[in-house]
Amino acid sequence: MILGAHVSIAGGVSNAPLNAQKLGINAFQIFTKNQNRWKDKPLEPAEVEKYLANCESCDIRRTVAHSAYLINLCTTDNGKLKMSRNAFLDEMMRAEQLRIPYLVMHPGSHLGAGESEGIRLIAESLRMLFNQQPDGKVRVLLETTAGQGTNLGYRFEQMAELIELIDCDARVGVCLDTCHIFAAGYDIRTPDAYEATIAEFDRVVGLDRLYVFHFNDSRRELGSRIDRHEHLGNGKIGVEPFKLFVQDPRFTDLPGLIETPGDMEDFAGNLDILRGLEGEK
Ligand SMILES: [Zn+2]
Ligand SMILES: [Zn+2]
Repeated sequence: MILGAHVSIAGGVSNAPLNAQKLGINAFQIFTKNQNRWKDKPLEPAEVEKYLANCESCDIRRTVAHSAYLINLCTTDNGKLKMSRNAFLDEMMRAEQLRIPYLVMHPGSHLGAGESEGIRLIAESLRMLFNQQPDGKVRVLLETTAGQGTNLGYRFEQMAELIELIDCDARVGVCLDTCHIFAAGYDIRTPDAYEATIAEFDRVVGLDRLYVFHFNDSRRELGSRIDRHEHLGNGKIGVEPFKLFVQDPRFTDLPGLIETPGDMEDFAGNLDILRGLEGEK
């Protein structure tokens, strides 16, 4: 598996590959802008050049962008929906500029409108945005969620429905977050539970639609529907299940990214755990 982490772009996006190199990884995820703002200034062409050169010199093999949390493509507020769509189009264009093939997004929160209405609106939003960027190459990855509040995407069936309604296979895929699926009620703690969950994902969504893993332990229990990341081995999932993922021959070519709390030093510790598990019998 291609191990990586969500790294900082403080000081400019060109620092992301350098941060990855410091961690000894060949894959990373970034926010391509300040994730707490609706708008950020455009990427400077010189900074983009520097970023691409650094990716090359740091031997980066897989890059992933994560969209801002403010964006909700199924909000019931029309003004916010417009802002969300504009902001997401900007995210798609930034990823395009940085030649990042995947843009991870949390599908959205229906805010009381109901799950099926939320799913319908997310699909409508994405179809509309793909039409506005017909030559776009970035693949939008719907991230499995914990199902906190009115968040959608906590059942594999919801992912399948979204993909079907978006109806644009070339531009859509899925990112599987271990903390989120566990909090959503999918057990992975034993080899049998792991196999059953992966088989369920394959049956409902399809493993061919899976492009990225987020590796996080969960502070909260199975089915809690609460999204709290924890360091690998310190949460309710534990270390062992991560060995099943990193040693699974079906996933050798996929990036497995850490999004655990803390700083670079904490990342290094979590990555060491994954590397150790890769080599274990
Ligand atoms: Zn995640
Ligand atoms: Zn999360």
